[in-house]
Amino acid sequence: MGSEFAGGDEATVFDIERYAVEDGPGIRTVVFFTGCNLHCTWCQNPESHSMKPQVMYYRDQCAACGKCVTACPVGAVRNSPPGGFLTDHQKCTLCGSCVDACFHSARKIVGRRMTVQAIMDEILKDRAFYESSGGGVTFSGGEPLLQADAVLELAQRCKAEGIHTALETAGFIQWKLIERLLPWLDLLYFDFKHINSEIHRRVTGAPIELIMENIRRAAESFENMVVRIPVIPGVNADTETLSRMFSYLAEQTRVRTVELLPFHRLGGGKYVGLEMEYAFETVANLSREDCLPFAEAGRRLGLAVSVGAQGA
Ligand code: SF4
Ligand code: SF4
Repeated sequence: MGSEFAGGDEATVFDIERYAVEDGPGIRTVVFFTGCNLHCTWCQNPESHSMKPQVMYYRDQCAACGKCVTACPVGAVRNSPPGGFLTDHQKCTLCGSCVDACFHSARKIVGRRMTVQAIMDEILKDRAFYESSGGGVTFSGGEPLLQADAVLELAQRCKAEGIHTALETAGFIQWKLIERLLPWLDLLYFDFKHINSEIHRRVTGAPIELIMENIRRAAESFENMVVRIPVIPGVNADTETLSRMFSYLAEQTRVRTVELLPFHRLGGGKYVGLEMEYAFETVANLSREDCLPFAEAGRRLGLAVSVGAQGA
């Protein structure tokens, strides 16, 4: 935890998604920053955990032709059944030869250093869509506040351009990094995963106290906050746990809106290529209907609880 990675002129991002509609109102550009100080076991974007760019391998798309092995000038790719054509990230120089050699798009370099100006140039491409739809830009990740100076610079520039700004944070960060950004934000998404600190530590690698304290402080000082709860089988997908979480949120006067995000395995395939264990391989997805009774428990406490990211 901390701001040791913060830097203002440049940032490392793993994606910039245009025409997004789920992370704030209207049509948006979502800037995904690399690096995360939580490691949630169900994470859909495990490639975001590392601050550094890296080669991703998608086994499902791989035709096992072996071209990446011969293309690599430093011998960093090996065929390692059943995982497939894996990368030695210590040896890899990110030259991109294996990516170019792969005709099946099974390899991709994820994460790139960009100047703040270059990110702004991307954001500004869709200005007309923001204006016509009431959209804007959302800073996401990873944990965007690990690159807090760059996010601050981008948010200030967006506001100067009249662009709506949103931030999605997991909140395991010093309060001062959140606080100084608030004047430049129109919308704050705050993730909340469990209320029991031991369980939270087991499934994310970090305790919950600082996050809950930051939720409380954000609720005191910011009007437009949405709390997002990923509903995860075996972790928090039970009425008792979610009711305790709702109760805490209902105590915060300005937290009125909560989104429940049903678990799905969309990012599961990425774990193989990163040689990471995926604990949810055999866990069934949750449907919207599965989560409706949970939402009802929150509504009874006066919260506006919806199922799924509401976006526009
Ligand atoms: S990016 Fe270059 S060095 Fe890295 S695995 Fe691919 S070919 Fe090898
Ligand atoms: S990753 Fe691409 S180049 Fe490498 S074996 Fe698979 S299909 Fe061939």
